Amino acid sequence: MAEASAVVTARELDGLEPEFVSDVRDDDHWHSVTPAQGDALRAWMRANSIEPNDVYRIETYTMDCAFARVFAYARTEHGQFVLDCPPDDSEHRPHRGRCSPVKREPYITMLASRPPELAP
Ligand SMILES: [Zn+2]
Repeated sequence: MAEASAVVTARELDGLEPEFVSDVRDDDHWHSVTPAQGDALRAWMRANSIEPNDVYRIETYTMDCAFARVFAYARTEHGQFVLDCPPDDSEHRPHRGRCSPVKREPYITMLASRPPELAP
């Protein structure tokens, strides 16, 4: 899936209203959808090369084409989430509640299909 940054930059999105927003790491989100809707949302993300387990928020827009702004957690080269651990406690294992996942810079990606809620 090609990066859409040549078409639109994140800065240009400020002030634009997304047509679809999902806070997929928010428990309230999963309480507001049926299991089938949740499965459809995850399948749609995977079909668009977006890993749902990494994502905490997704916004979609349609201008000349459909694209998404994806807010995701960072992973190491070995596929583990990058954690921000308290500085006084850097050698601890396992990680605890005070260790929060590091967020990567939101990125923009083209969509081959629109979210299930908006699909015809
Ligand atoms: Zn930790």
